[in-house]
Amino acid sequence: MAFTIDLSGRAAVVTGGNRGLGASFAWALADAGARVGIIARDDARNAEFVTASAERGIAIVAVTADITDALQAESAADELHRRLGGTDILVNNAGTAVHSPALDTDDDDWDRTFDLNVRAMWKMSALVGRRMIEQRRGAIVNIGSMSGFIVNRPQQQAAYNASKAAVHHLTRSLAVEWAPHGVRVNAVAPGYVKTEMAPVDEPEFRRYWIDDVPQQRYALPEEIAPSVVFLASDAASFITGSVLVADGGYTTV
Ligand code: NDP
Repeated sequence: MAFTIDLSGRAAVVTGGNRGLGASFAWALADAGARVGIIARDDARNAEFVTASAERGIAIVAVTADITDALQAESAADELHRRLGGTDILVNNAGTAVHSPALDTDDDDWDRTFDLNVRAMWKMSALVGRRMIEQRRGAIVNIGSMSGFIVNRPQQQAAYNASKAAVHHLTRSLAVEWAPHGVRVNAVAPGYVKTEMAPVDEPEFRRYWIDDVPQQRYALPEEIAPSVVFLASDAASFITGSVLVADGGYTTV
């Protein structure tokens, strides 16, 4: 059976889509034919991303909102649903990491990490998932991390690691609940990727972040994007509750 990955006619929302991995996901989804909207907090950066996308011939709709605020998340999801003419795909990408030893991690660090990485993901999934269940079709792709499987070194980041393990199990839990309704929920777990979040070029990290990777390198965001497009597409029609690891082999050794 021949198939192509084609998202024509689909509307996709990417949280945290104005830079880094999210920007790459937005462009890749659009390249596959989807109408794409992003949500992020920085209005100027959102506008820059819309302009940069237009220069590549890609029309992106951007909404400025902080998705850790329930009201802002709801109004952003509603606005994108209206402006895109539906919501068929949700990529829960926005995330944050705090490097700090466990005993120095205060309540604010913990809450900031879990509020965005887990609670906002939960909130966005519920807001969009309700509509997907009504239309009996939809695909959600959550961005987890290899940190949900392993403990990174040398940086200490217990809150982040625990939050990403929660992302993976939230993915499986929603997948099982919503499978009978035609909604698939999967995750992608990247290894180190060059973005503002990950200082991959710092010499102090080289031994653990590069030398320990079987492929002996970090990834660029556009190397992770095809996994997201695949899981969002009908090519993954029998895949739900999976966590696709894209880490250059890191978690296998
Ligand atoms: P970046 O820090 O480069 O980008 C984060 C994005 O999220 C930005 O667009 C930011 O925009 C947005 N964002 C942050 N907070 C909020 C908020 N409260 N509401 C709405 N948007 C928000 O991160 P990466 O691209 O590196 O990471 C993306 C995802 O991939 C994260 O979930 C991360 O954990 C995961 N990941 C990253 C890896 C890496 O090596 N880079 C490895 C494994 C997983 P703004 O500031 O304008 O709101």
